[in-house]
Amino acid sequence: MTLAAAMLAVTVAFPANGAKLPYVDKCYMIGAVGRGVTNLTVQGRSVDIYRTGAWATMVDLSEGTNTVDIVAGETATNLTVFVASRPVPNPFAPRPPEKKYEKLEYAADAPAPRRAAGGTSGMVVWLDPGHGGTDTGALSPHGYPEKDANLRVAREVRRALEEKGYTVRMTRDSDATLDLHERPRKAHEEKADAFVSIHHNAPGVASDPRRTRYSAVYAWNPLGEALAGAISQRMEETLEGDIPSKGVLHANFAVTRSPEIPSCLVEVDFLTAPQGEEDCWNHLRRRAIGRAIADGIDDHLRAGLADI
Ligand SMILES: [Zn+2]
Repeated sequence: MTLAAAMLAVTVAFPANGAKLPYVDKCYMIGAVGRGVTNLTVQGRSVDIYRTGAWATMVDLSEGTNTVDIVAGETATNLTVFVASRPVPNPFAPRPPEKKYEKLEYAADAPAPRRAAGGTSGMVVWLDPGHGGTDTGALSPHGYPEKDANLRVAREVRRALEEKGYTVRMTRDSDATLDLHERPRKAHEEKADAFVSIHHNAPGVASDPRRTRYSAVYAWNPLGEALAGAISQRMEETLEGDIPSKGVLHANFAVTRSPEIPSCLVEVDFLTAPQGEEDCWNHLRRRAIGRAIADGIDDHLRAGLADI
């Protein structure tokens, strides 16, 4: 009894015995697994325990009653967890109004990218580490917040760009809460040459967080797509054989809707996959990704310089 109680104490992220969970498209239980746990079974089937720095697991749960057996050496603890039934969609429910996106109110009308006469030293790149403060962004299986992973990558991008002679500014360089629509404002006021938002991804409820991993760069208009394409190409070269790339995707995000500044949003990787989380802790990989993003920005802005 004492041993079982001690073991449960280290598996705090698991639902309590008898817990009633809401239905999600695929029912996962995400929990920290104590070091003494040697075997975990759900409905009699053994499931993987990921050892990613600390230990964690994600297991499938089904609608209705689930039995989970946690075995630590000689001691077994049995949990019963209930998952609510899938809600029946109402075909007569009114459709939610379509979201309308407007150009940023402080952005100019005509696309007019600025090309600095002084080469890279006259150019200003704004980096936007996503989320921050009370907005954590996605969480890894161990609760590592996306806001921190984004800031660490952004600092690597800044370092690499400054080595190339660019002036780099950041929407935040600390754990600050920022308004989404205010993020590009100063970049506009300063007529920046590029604006790049940096994020780590999380899958939708229909995708398996254990297996979903890819990089992607999102842009809104042709100006942003050119920048996104250059970054995506460098990222693919760096991450080749590691995680797949979805290339450049179209997205109407608040931070990519600038008509006059090449803007894009980089989703570096998925923090929600156990291996994705472990890779985010690898500072050499982080530095390589930061350099790849900086190289892509540099490729794009230098191509513009050649046009003058
Ligand atoms: Zn994000």
